[in-house]
Amino acid sequence: MHDLLIRNGRLVDPAHSLDQRLDIAIKDGRVSAVESGLEVSSASEVIDASGLLVTPGMIDLHVHIYAGVSHYGIPPDPTCLARGVTTAVDAGTAGASTFDGLRRYVIEASATRLFALLNISRIGMVSGAELDPPLGELEDLRHLNVPAAVRCINANRDVILGVKLRLSANLAADGKNELQALKLAREAADAVGLPIMIHTPQSSLGLPRILAEMRSGDILTHCFHAHSSGILNSSGEVLPEVRQAIDRRVLLDVGHGKGSFGYEIARQAMSQGIIPNTISSDLHFYNLHGPVFDLATTVSKFLHLGMDLSEALRRVTSTPASVIKMDKELGTLAVGAIADAVVFRLRDGSRPASDTVGRVEELRQWLEPVYVVKAGKIVARYV
Ligand SMILES: [Zn+2]
Repeated sequence: MHDLLIRNGRLVDPAHSLDQRLDIAIKDGRVSAVESGLEVSSASEVIDASGLLVTPGMIDLHVHIYAGVSHYGIPPDPTCLARGVTTAVDAGTAGASTFDGLRRYVIEASATRLFALLNISRIGMVSGAELDPPLGELEDLRHLNVPAAVRCINANRDVILGVKLRLSANLAADGKNELQALKLAREAADAVGLPIMIHTPQSSLGLPRILAEMRSGDILTHCFHAHSSGILNSSGEVLPEVRQAIDRRVLLDVGHGKGSFGYEIARQAMSQGIIPNTISSDLHFYNLHGPVFDLATTVSKFLHLGMDLSEALRRVTSTPASVIKMDKELGTLAVGAIADAVVFRLRDGSRPASDTVGRVEELRQWLEPVYVVKAGKIVARYV
């Protein structure tokens, strides 16, 4: 007897190049069968997914969920899990001095499966560009202490997956501290053998200088931002250093955010063959009520830009699962995997959706979660 059966849906599981009508059975939190024609009587609970999409639970590599400590922070369960993100990575909201609270009060206390990247600054994102003038975490290099970061990571290897660095001149003493911060983040990441995720909007360093420090497995987030230190030159051509970085397997991540996603930048880059490896939301307090709303909306913007459904879903399921080295268990609905799933309605119509430079375009199709299943349990339903 299965615990749960998701019947008659269109299963899109990019890890196995599956896009077909199949039933998924779940037992003890794991996928127990993927077949057609499984009997309703074979399970204790049944979801009828007729006319709906069934995908692995989404993985969002860039969110900010340290509510009450960082002004960016939002609670993960209503904003991630309830919207189909069964696994999320906090991208540097906490540093070595504040990480214990993130672990104890958020990661261990939430239903969403959570991991983190540790901010190289030990204060994390407690203040920043919201102050006038801005006071970011790289303002004072005394906050950047490699041994403290290494100790914190080594004590939390089960949940910390790498180092986070926000390179923006206005967060780093008008840019004066950016290069040193980059070197210290590199040193910390090398000491623990984990990747760095780097944010570059409005960096004074220029993207080629930043990319020169990035290696295989490192993540360039906000890859389609429209500020200085972006991936295009002034003529709209992709910088050669970006192609070289991709060749050595630096990963490109979307990180939509409040200021980091332009439709036109994405179009120009994608038309030149630059396709992001992962689609993430950078969901936080200042974009939760638009223009991001949730990860499904960001995925829908890539459908709008012409990305194939399965390829868009790959970038929120199997690829981020590989990035966090959990691709055997997460990001797929293969038999034996952890049973995280989303049942989506692919809506047709017209829905205005803004990027972060004030451009509004009409989505003709978008994903809306109908059921969210985490480890075999229905955790949200919209029917
Ligand atoms: Zn962010």
